[in-house]
Amino acid sequence: MKIGFIGLGIMGMPMAANLVQAGHDLVTCDRQPKTIDGARAVAAPMDAARDRDVVISMLPDTPDVNDVLFGSGAAAGAMHAGTVYIDMSTVSPVATMDFARRLSVQGVAMLDAPVSGGDLGARKGTLSIMVGGSKEAFDHCLPLFQAMGSNIVYAGESGSGQKMKLVNQAVGALNLLAAVEGLRLASASGLDLETVLSAVSAGAAGSWMWSNLGSKIVAGDFSAGFMIRLQQKDLRLAREFFEQLGLDAPGTALTYELFTQALEKGLGLDGNQALYRLWE
Ligand code: NAD
Repeated sequence: MKIGFIGLGIMGMPMAANLVQAGHDLVTCDRQPKTIDGARAVAAPMDAARDRDVVISMLPDTPDVNDVLFGSGAAAGAMHAGTVYIDMSTVSPVATMDFARRLSVQGVAMLDAPVSGGDLGARKGTLSIMVGGSKEAFDHCLPLFQAMGSNIVYAGESGSGQKMKLVNQAVGALNLLAAVEGLRLASASGLDLETVLSAVSAGAAGSWMWSNLGSKIVAGDFSAGFMIRLQQKDLRLAREFFEQLGLDAPGTALTYELFTQALEKGLGLDGNQALYRLWE
């Protein structure tokens, strides 16, 4: 397919490379000069959206998607009727439904398709992808999702992918806090941390966060995979989503507060496992 891909960051770069690898014709755009072998780079989002069957974005936050589509990027205006637009960023479900409604007026179907699995999953093409929007557009784009991920879930109508992703983020952040707290206790009590890692991962308290980020913490590796500032953004979105539904969310309120403190401490560009350093 002819694809425009906007946002070549930690995630977007390997995801776009996997689409090239699968034989698709890619035009890419990032506000920093970045290129991918086998793809043509353009400077403006509107040029990545023109004459494409599918346009994909992988951007940090809701205002970035709005700016690329309807603001200075002007990508929406360059899409023709019949184009499918897929936003794979993690952004507000409410804003997503509004973007989809505005694009539908010009005959563009939008899928919201946020991902989970980190930079490693993006590189290996094993992401989990949660997709909202029309089933027809989903079926049409399934080969693209299969080039980037291995667990593709159709979540339901527009916004459902983002809603599912926020559930994922609320659960993931609480698991990470649990791992951080456990490792602080283990460290302060003089236990051998490698032994603690393998003992806990084999039992009922094991988790993806414990196994993957716990081992990075023990190794002193606080580089990003998933940046503190993006984790804090997702918890803000999750908190807003709980509030919109009138639900109490003490765990999400706590993790949001702690990640906000981590941001204020200057850890925003570190990986989310650097939550551990909040207490250093
Ligand atoms: P990133 O900051 O590394 O990449 C974002 C890219 O978008 C950057 O290269 C930036 O230059 C570009 N960009 C921003 N505004 C732009 C504009 N107006 N025009 C063109 N390019 C623009 O972020 P990331 O880690 O790749 O994450 C992207 C999205 O995926 C976020 O919503 C994040 O929450 C989500 N996500 C990230 C991970 C992860 O592990 N990193 C995992 C799952 C989901």
